[in-house]
Amino acid sequence: MTTINNSSGGIDMSAYWLPFTPNRYFQHHPKIMQSAKGAYYYDDHGRKLFDGLSGLWCSPLGHADPRIGAAIQKQFETMDYCPAFQMASETAFRLASRIAKMAPAGLDKVFFTNSGSEAVDTALKIAIGYHRVMGNASRTRLIGRDRAYHGVGIAGISVGGMVANRKMFASMMMPGVDHLPHTLNLSQMAFSRGQPKWGAHLAEELEKIVTLHDANTIAAVIMEPVQGSTGVIVPPDGYLQKIREICTKHGILLIFDEVITGFGRLGANFGADRFGVTPDMITFAKGITNGVIPMGGVIVRGDIYDSIITNGGQEQSIEFFHGYTYSGHPIPAAAGHAVLDIFESDDLVNRARALEPVLEDGLHALKGKSGILDIRNFGLSGAVELDPVPGKPGLRSMKVLEACIEKGALVRVAGDAIAAGPPFISTPEEVQFLCSVLGEAIDVAM
Ligand code: PLP
Repeated sequence: MTTINNSSGGIDMSAYWLPFTPNRYFQHHPKIMQSAKGAYYYDDHGRKLFDGLSGLWCSPLGHADPRIGAAIQKQFETMDYCPAFQMASETAFRLASRIAKMAPAGLDKVFFTNSGSEAVDTALKIAIGYHRVMGNASRTRLIGRDRAYHGVGIAGISVGGMVANRKMFASMMMPGVDHLPHTLNLSQMAFSRGQPKWGAHLAEELEKIVTLHDANTIAAVIMEPVQGSTGVIVPPDGYLQKIREICTKHGILLIFDEVITGFGRLGANFGADRFGVTPDMITFAKGITNGVIPMGGVIVRGDIYDSIITNGGQEQSIEFFHGYTYSGHPIPAAAGHAVLDIFESDDLVNRARALEPVLEDGLHALKGKSGILDIRNFGLSGAVELDPVPGKPGLRSMKVLEACIEKGALVRVAGDAIAAGPPFISTPEEVQFLCSVLGEAIDVAM
């Protein structure tokens, strides 16, 4: 049995298979969080750690906000579960309406899931189902992007572009998927503040894919407005606009995967708002419940819903054969209401926007340190790309994470980049602290 001795006594580490974690390395370098409050975690060594990534990008309001706890408790006492099929709670209806109101005009239907991965699968199914009911059953091809992360469902890893997530499962990859190139090119854009000026032309690659396959075989393009999990890759100026134009021209649906960028991370309700580009669907998860309890979903253009529903056969027939036992679960829905209340009462999207230049300046002040290849940022998110240890990918950033923990902050390892995305409740001083800790940690790890 592998145990660690810490302030809570011995922890048996033999049974828990950690997700997306080097399990063997972890056994020797365990990181155990014991409690969380506000913008801080407290670990088993008694360290107070500034939460530099808002959990896993999912806790923008910080931790243990009693208003969320109270809403969950109240819903639990009122109704702890409601069957998701053929009936629903009022809480879920009201949450769908609120989310639709926050979304870009025209996107006014909400399908609930439990996670971002499920939201992605759902959106891709809606895209294919929509074309089918519109008489375009040949439109089944899906287009993703290199370095994209769309969760871990089979559809999500198929359109995703992180090689390691696909390699072991090659036999399970969906057929009929293409990938656009990613837009990161350090020789053209290293150390850009905000959107890089170079790279909008990369959207033209979509025209090449259309020429190759014909538009009438393509259902949808899916992309994160800012690629989060591969280290905050910011779209070049004009790139998303061009992608939108090409999709519209060819009748291809555009899905923005806003699991990270939704609910304020980019200083607007959605990335779609910040970039001024309206997709046909938006996937969300994470921030909607502040990470307290799982929930995700897809926001869908009204006429896509109408087409599927009106082509659904007899009135008593199910129009779309898809859903989860916990779709629209009343408890996460209640948490979602509390979160949206807090967004409004505490003006959190504007607070995120106001912190953006603080994070930008703090990160870019690290330029010139040895071993930093790039610094990039957008909204309240940023990343520092590090020179890898030769032959040992990911080791440098792990060492930086560990040095950050020693110095009082948590960050996120993304390959050999370090990502930061502090809570919206942070003070400017806390964001500056995060950046200076990161700088000191990089010095230690080089
Ligand atoms: N899509 C994007 C853009 C994400 O960043 C993530 C998770 O980080 C997902 C999908 C998957 O979400 P989940 O882990 O909730 O399944």
